[in-house]
Parts: sequence; structure tokens; C-alpha cells
Amino acid sequence: MASGAQIKRRLTILGSTGSIGTNTLDVVERLGGRERFDIAALTGNGNIPLLAEQARRVGAELAVTADEHRYGELKSALEGSGIEVAAGRSGLIEAAERDAGWVMAAIVGNAGLQPTLAAARRGADIALANKECLVSAGSLFIEAVAKGGGRLLPVDSEHNAIFQVLENDQRHAVERIILTASGGPFRTKSLEEMRHVTADIARAHPNWSMGLKISIDSASMFNKALEMIEARHLFRLRPDQIEVIVHPQSVIHSMVGYSDGSVLAQLGCPDMRTAIGYALSYPKRCELPIERLDFARLARLDFEAPDEARFPALKLARRAMQAGGIQGAVLNGAKETALEAFIKGRIGFLAMAEIVERVMDRLSDLPAAVTMDDVFAADEKARQTAAGLIH
Ligand code: NDP
Repeated sequence: MASGAQIKRRLTILGSTGSIGTNTLDVVERLGGRERFDIAALTGNGNIPLLAEQARRVGAELAVTADEHRYGELKSALEGSGIEVAAGRSGLIEAAERDAGWVMAAIVGNAGLQPTLAAARRGADIALANKECLVSAGSLFIEAVAKGGGRLLPVDSEHNAIFQVLENDQRHAVERIILTASGGPFRTKSLEEMRHVTADIARAHPNWSMGLKISIDSASMFNKALEMIEARHLFRLRPDQIEVIVHPQSVIHSMVGYSDGSVLAQLGCPDMRTAIGYALSYPKRCELPIERLDFARLARLDFEAPDEARFPALKLARRAMQAGGIQGAVLNGAKETALEAFIKGRIGFLAMAEIVERVMDRLSDLPAAVTMDDVFAADEKARQTAAGLIH
């Protein structure tokens, strides 16, 4: 090897065809592309043309579609490339188990839990965008990462911000964390106005460009609800140490409050590549062409208390955190089912929170999870119960 040559890092991207996945590939290219990184595996679901194009472009070893019916399509799109092809749940696990030292977990929803877990168990560093892993499996997921020996690097912008400003030798002095929320497209809308919105209206986020489901979750503030539960597990906090403040400009990505009254914040333009780049180059900082903050042009930063009457998802998150046990999995399973129904136009926007609440009422005495199977069973039960409430 020539002197000074860098050893390449091996990466896998679970969910490479999504918003986080494509941003991750953009960051990888900007930080040196094939010169510095080998891509062990890429996974997608329905967007076969993009998955095949990405796999060829970066020279991935393995490309996987989660949809087993699309295997043939992916296989022929990669004909002659030498890239291995797999499909379905077993294909996702195969991708996660490839020997990549860093794995981006960017599959949307609970579908990401099993593959991310497989990567964690073999000791990979997990760049975690898929918040559902922590919402559903909580401490069991944290234990799996610790046992595997890899690091958990938060990619959700709020958690990445906290990760950046949390002084690890001062953990005892952390009083609270303050998650910022943009308030989404309906921040100033009345309940009556929200009652009639469609998925197309709800997906239009004012500041962030994201996938369909997380955009709608931002509009209902279920995204913030999931983030509260995620933060509790990630930073080992009590529920009463987690606050939410609406900050419409999305410039402060979150804050940590200490026992001496200091509050440390991480700021930046809303661009997920900052958090992805931080997780990829941690503990160093990398160089990225993200728009720089211009404080004079920004002029002001606004804050307001969240309105839990219009956005009941927040109080459902508190309830799930207080109850502990398996209620995170129940909340998320019910929420994913209600969200699907809203996207298909089968229920209204406000019905999502109503359904989640009713499912949590019905499943309030499920025992705490001892194994991952308990988590999957609770998720399934929540989905069935929610489906029964959707006519
Ligand atoms: P997208 O919907 O844009 O992408 C989701 C990815 O998952 C795609 O690669 C998609 O494949 C794949 N996928 C969809 N369904 C399945 C399935 N059943 N099994 C396996 N793979 C599947 O989502 P985002 O990138 O927006 O979000 C990904 C995760 O990151 C979510 O958990 C979200 O909450 C979190 N996150 C996202 C942020 C953002 O800015 N987007 C910010 C913070 C967190 P295909 O497209 O080929 O169908």
C-alpha cells in the first residue's frame, strides 16, 4: 500500500432510496466516495430503478429490495454488473449482517427494527435515523447495541444536536433536554381547519425536506412524540426531563439544560446532511457544503409552548413514557396503522390521534417486554386493534 493511503471504511445503507438514504449517499460522495468508502450493501423497497442506479454508481456488493415480488426486476436491472441481489426480509437481514463497520438505519417505520437489530448484534456502529427502533424496543435495543459492542450515533436532527452538546463527563448535571419542534404546516391552524386536511396538504413541511410518512407525522406532531420516547432511551432520562418547545425557524435543533442554569444548543440550517456527516465522521467533524447560518439575515428566533389540545400526540407520548414497559411499541404500531389509513384517505387527520389513544386504552395492561418477540407481538396487537377501529 502506498504510504499515506487511507484504509477504506465499509458502509451499509438500509433504506438507501429514501430521503435519508439519498442524503447519506450524497454525504458519502462528498467525503471521498469510492476513494474512501466501500459500500457493502444498499437496500430499498419499491423504487427499483433508483436502487439499481445507486448500486451501480457506488459499486455496492449487494443490493436488496424488501419486496420479494420485485426480485426479478432488481436482478435484471443489475444484469452484468456483478452486484449480488437479494429480496425480502431475509435479504434485509443478509444486508445488515454483511461485515460493514458503519450502518445507516434509514428504513421507515417498524420494518427497520429487525435489520437494524441484526447490524447492532454483530457490533456495527449504528447511525440511527429509524427512531422506531428505540420507540418500540427501547432499552432492549440499547442493550443489543451495548452487547454487540458498536456505537449508537443519533441521526435524527434533534438527537444529533443533543449528542453534539451533551458533555459526557457532566451527565450528572443534566437537568433537562429541550427538543425543538417546527410546529409543522398546521402550527397556527384550528382543530376545525385540521379536521379536513388531506395527506397532500399535511406532507408539505415548512422547513425540512423528508419522506412522506415523517412529513405527515411532523404535521400531527407524532414525529415529536416518537422523538420524546427516542430521547428518553437514547440519553437515559426520566420523562419529566424531556421538554418540547415550538421553534418555527428550525435553526436551533435542540438544547441541553444544566444544573448551573446554562443551556447548550446546536444550531444550523435545516439540512439532514449535517447530522449524517457528523455520524459518519464522528468523533471528528467533516467538511460539507451546507448553507451557513447568516444571523443578520435571520434577525430573530421565535419560540412558543406546544398546544397539546390541538396536538394530542405529545400527551400520548408522555403517557407511554410514564407507563413504560411496552407502551412505546403500542403507540407506534397504532400510529403506523392510523397513518397508513390517513394516507389512503380512509380516516381524517384528527382521527389518527384518537385511534392511537383508544388502542393505548385497550392495551394498557400488556406486560413489559422481556424479549424482542414481546415487542413484535405488542406491535402486531396494536396494529390489529387499530385496524379494528378503522371502518
Ligand atoms: P423515506 O420514506 O423517504 O424512505 C424510506 C426508506 O425505507 C426507502 O428506502 C424505502 O424504500 C424503504 N422502505 C419502505 N418501506 C419498507 C419496508 N417495508 N421494508 C424495508 N424498507 C422499506 O423515509 P425517510 O428517509 O424520510 O425516513 C427514514 C427514517 O428516518 C424514518 O424512520 C424517519 O422517521 C427517520 N428520519 C427521517 C428524517 C428525514 O429528514 N427524512 C429526519 C429524521 C429521522 P423505497 O423508497 O424503495 O420504497
